[in-house]
Amino acid sequence: MDAAERVLAYGGGWLDRAGALRTDPARLDALLDDLATVVLPLWRDRCLVDGDGPVRLTADRASLVRSAAAETVFLGLDGDVAVFAVDLSGLGEAAAVEMAGAARAVDVRALVGRLDPAGAATQAYARGLLHWHRQQRHCGTCGAVAVAGGGGHVRTCSGAECGRLLFPRIEPAIIVLVEAPGSAGRCLLARHAGAAEDSYSTLAGFVEVGESLEDAVRREMAEEAGITVTDVTYQGSQAWPFPAGLMVGFRATATSDEVRVDGVELLQARWFTREELRERVAAGRRLGRVDSIDHRLLTDWLAEAR
Ligand SMILES: [Zn+2]
Repeated sequence: MDAAERVLAYGGGWLDRAGALRTDPARLDALLDDLATVVLPLWRDRCLVDGDGPVRLTADRASLVRSAAAETVFLGLDGDVAVFAVDLSGLGEAAAVEMAGAARAVDVRALVGRLDPAGAATQAYARGLLHWHRQQRHCGTCGAVAVAGGGGHVRTCSGAECGRLLFPRIEPAIIVLVEAPGSAGRCLLARHAGAAEDSYSTLAGFVEVGESLEDAVRREMAEEAGITVTDVTYQGSQAWPFPAGLMVGFRATATSDEVRVDGVELLQARWFTREELRERVAAGRRLGRVDSIDHRLLTDWLAEAR
């Protein structure tokens, strides 16, 4: 990884995904029996945690848990140690917690600040991959049951006439810090539907079929805020497997100060100076969720002197 590249929560390439092992079922079976191997149990998108954080099962206990799991997936190698995840979603919550020897089930996003970056990324990866398995039980072409393989990174349609291969889906979304025209140093923040009063964040939206990322930026800004933007510039991306997102961050410049929100996704949008945002921070208000690229886009902008 480039030393200058700063890692956002839930990504960072901490694990060697060891893709070549996915097509070696005998090796994966051997790794599952290896006493050094770690197996992470999840239940319906949640980590199973004890007092020390997410439970890490070793082979002796993991074989019992795997017998109750809907899926066992190979996440990769942490150094020499193989890391797998198992899905206990077929059990009730109390049974899953007990089976894993855990204390409770918690969303990984609720553990931000308590998990190290590698731990958060691995849990998010497991969450996203197991979620996909639960959503892709059947083939979308012929409706036959789809069977997991490839270490949990592919499902194959069991239909005799079909046999389609199904891969995990990623849903890209753009998130944009829009600057006002001229050199005034203002950015556009919006209050989203459902957000608390006086809670503002950058603008975002899903990429549609047949769009480039830049097309999506221009369309979303026009639809949601009634603005035309130019100079669409990539800032970075963030894994967001909640359940299947990839957040792609941009900056763009509006051609006019005039803003017209759609009243559906955005209730209000207005320009903020750096001074105003600094005052909000000083008053204890957060610039987006600390684990989000929204926060990164805003703090980067705020750090610029202009
Ligand atoms: Zn099929």
